[in-house]
Amino acid sequence: MIPETAAQVEPQAQVILSPEQNAEEQRWRQQLAQSFRTPKALLEHLQFDEQQIKELSANDQGFSTLVPKAYADRMQPADQQDPLLLQVLPQVAEGLSAPGFVTDPLAEAEFNPSPGVVHKYHGRALLVTASHCAINCRYCFRRHYPYDEQQRSRSQWQASLAHLAEDRDLEEIILSGGDPLALTNNMLFALLDKIEALPQVQRLRIHSRLPVVLPTRITSALCQRLKSSRLQVVMVIHCNHAQEIDTEVSAACQQLQAAGVSLLNQSVLLGTINANSESLIALSKALFNSGVLPYYLHLPDHVAGTQHFFIEQQQGLQLHREIQKKLPGYLVPRLVKEEPGMAHKTLI
Ligand code: SF4
Repeated sequence: MIPETAAQVEPQAQVILSPEQNAEEQRWRQQLAQSFRTPKALLEHLQFDEQQIKELSANDQGFSTLVPKAYADRMQPADQQDPLLLQVLPQVAEGLSAPGFVTDPLAEAEFNPSPGVVHKYHGRALLVTASHCAINCRYCFRRHYPYDEQQRSRSQWQASLAHLAEDRDLEEIILSGGDPLALTNNMLFALLDKIEALPQVQRLRIHSRLPVVLPTRITSALCQRLKSSRLQVVMVIHCNHAQEIDTEVSAACQQLQAAGVSLLNQSVLLGTINANSESLIALSKALFNSGVLPYYLHLPDHVAGTQHFFIEQQQGLQLHREIQKKLPGYLVPRLVKEEPGMAHKTLI
């Protein structure tokens, strides 16, 4: 379920903001509420002609469309092959089945000891923090995740954190999608307070696509809160193409960096979007120019409805070799895949 606005998941008002911070908070929430929610609205904004809009918007089914205007504004007008548009526009192929492509390719349901907790790696646990994102990516490995059954509220977080508190080896908590930064500051800060109260936890990792798709979400109040945390904070932004990084995204990353947040990127190798060495090299350079280290390049998972993005391991390996020849080591992300039941990602 995707709330119309972030306000729908957050009735409380505990964080005291200055008038400027309040305006920043209202701004991103309003922008999120004004996102495109149908292919037709998005395609009209991109100036496709009537016939193209009719053809391209006919595939709106299942996983809903959600695209912030700030992200759409980085797409080329009337370009059906735009790498940003292809990440968010529903395709006919999503309705086709393919052998081996399933709804829970990583078997997360087997590692779900409490609603909203995925606990499969030593010393780390993942909290599915929100039941929505700020964008719906067609390739998403959680596009079939039962968010409705795993709805998050403060009392449910309490139950999840009580479960995690018993794990004395737990050093890191990972906040993941639904996107943690799609929560309002009130909700997010309340969760951070609870995590900081677990004495064994040393690191907080936030996986978010908000710095890329809605950079106004990186507000001064958020940066202040992260800066004041007793935890080491790592943010993994999920950026797949250099065209996703404009001056606003770059500025948001620099604000986070100034707040002491370590920034990493994790991208997915996606056919027709970034599966060529030029795109991957441009992405690594653009990330580094914004203070972000390219960390992981993921082979896509076998997610039902995403087979048209799929890249075979051999092709991924070949591309990885090509970029290794042209980039310094620190700009070459590790090529990995996730396998159900494994205690860590598999390095290719
Ligand atoms: S932001 Fe991440 S979790 Fe949300 S739809 Fe996109 S890929 Fe999936």
